[in-house]
Formats: sequence, structure tokens, C-alpha cells
Amino acid sequence: MLEVKGLSKSFGGIHAVQDINFTVPKGQIVSLIGPNGAGKTTCFNLITGFYQPTRGQVFWDGADVTASKPYDMAQRGVIRTFQKTNVLRGLSAFENIVHAHYLRDRTPLWRTFWRAPDSRRVQAEIQESARAILDLVGLGKRQDVEAGSLSCGELRLLEVGVALGAKPRLLMLDEPAAGLNSREAEGLGGLLRTLPGKWVESLLLVEHNMHLVMQVSHHVVVMNFGKKLAAGTPAEIQANEEVLEAYMGTA
Ligand code: ATP
Repeated sequence: MLEVKGLSKSFGGIHAVQDINFTVPKGQIVSLIGPNGAGKTTCFNLITGFYQPTRGQVFWDGADVTASKPYDMAQRGVIRTFQKTNVLRGLSAFENIVHAHYLRDRTPLWRTFWRAPDSRRVQAEIQESARAILDLVGLGKRQDVEAGSLSCGELRLLEVGVALGAKPRLLMLDEPAAGLNSREAEGLGGLLRTLPGKWVESLLLVEHNMHLVMQVSHHVVVMNFGKKLAAGTPAEIQANEEVLEAYMGTA
């Protein structure tokens, strides 16, 4: 379980994140929503060690991981994506996911292949896992296509696949539906709902597509101007006047 306690981050005079508290329990999908500039991505950067908080703590499995580096968080199973698609465009979809399998491994790539006699077995396992992930995200038939030639919707799915290749326990997706049409977003929602308990322990989303958020989340945290405005089930958030005023009304 992830727990964020009193998390705060200032950049000079800008209080990007102020005293944010929430948990992501095992088996759940939690979404962070809020208008542009509310502090959502900064929260992601604080949790994954890209930024150090000005105040507050991050706990993962009960351990204080506040000072951890991004690399350490990935080793612990906290894997994130970025708003901008971050796949290797010159590699095929399949190769991208194979590559991701090494992201969490302390062993350098060359040593994995050096380690005869089990290197063939390791390679076969990784390839099998990559194929299973491609099928899961619906790109099984596109596995040999260069990532740079995939459509925007396919790229978003590949990005989820690459993140899954790194074997996350907590998967953190930053705007996975950005640029998707409503049919593609619906498909992505269906995929995300199948992940907790099977492919990951839990999911934390930052997302602007309210339909997707309300469709998949167990719990929603609403941020505005760096602060927590509200938190609750999708039904509670949809009925919250303050949220409607601050966010939905302007979405
Ligand atoms: P969006 O939905 O547009 O992605 P967000 O909710 O993710 O927005 P953040 O990107 O976390 O918001 O930004 C919160 C505030 O912190 C903004 O005012 C932003 O300009 C500021 N900010 C974020 N990163 C930095 C930085 N590295 N240096 C200075 N200011 C920053």
C-alpha cells in the first residue's frame, strides 16, 4: 500500500503541492484529478523520487521511502509513465516491451545474456511474458510494427504495456487517455479495470477524462491550487458542489 502524508512542494514562491494526504490500498484504482496546474504531476514526481518534498512523507509497504531515488522506487515496484509518450520509436512494439523487462532488473542487460547456461531460458521467459502483455493490451497483431508508426491510441496502449513489462506492483499512469477518442478511452478503461489483483497490486492515475476516471476508480482525490479539495468514491465526487464548481464546470 502507498501512503502519502502531508506532502508539500514549493518552487520558490509557487506552492505546487500543499499538505496532500491519501492512500492507495492494494487491489484498488485511485485517481488524482484537478484542473491544469493543480499539482497532480508534481505529486507523481514526489512519490517516485523525481522531486524531493519540501515537507511530508511517502510510505510504501510501511517503509518511509521519502528520500528514495526514482531508480530505487522502480526497484521496489513503483513504476510510472509520463504525460508525453516515452516509448522507443525505432523499436517494434514487441522489442519495446522486451526492453522494459530489464528496467527493474539490477543486472545489466549484457550480463543477463552472458549468464549461460540459463540465458536462453531467461530470454524465452521474457519473450513469452512480452507476448502475453501485448495480447493483454490488444496489440498482439501489431507486435512487429515500429512504435513510431503506431497510432496515438496504440501508442498509449503500448505505453501501458511497457510499464507492465517492468513488473509493477503499483502502476502510476499520468494521463493515459490523453489524445484518445471516446471509443479508445472506453477500451483503455476496460483494460485498466482488469489490472489490479492480476497484473499489478494497485493503480494510481492522473487523468482529465472524467468519464474514464468515474468508470474505473474506487477512490478519487481532487486537487485544486495544490491543495486537496475533496476525496471520495466516484459517486460522492460527482455529487460534490465544490468539485463541480472548481473542476467539472470548467472542464
Ligand atoms: P496538468 O493537468 O496541466 O498537467 P498538474 O495538476 O499536473 O497540471 P503540475 O504540473 O503538478 O500540475 O504543476 C503544479 C504547479 O507547479 C504549476 O503552477 C506549475 O507551473 C508548477 N511547477 C511544476 N513543476 C515545476 C518546476 N519544476 N519548477 C517550477 N514550477 C513548477
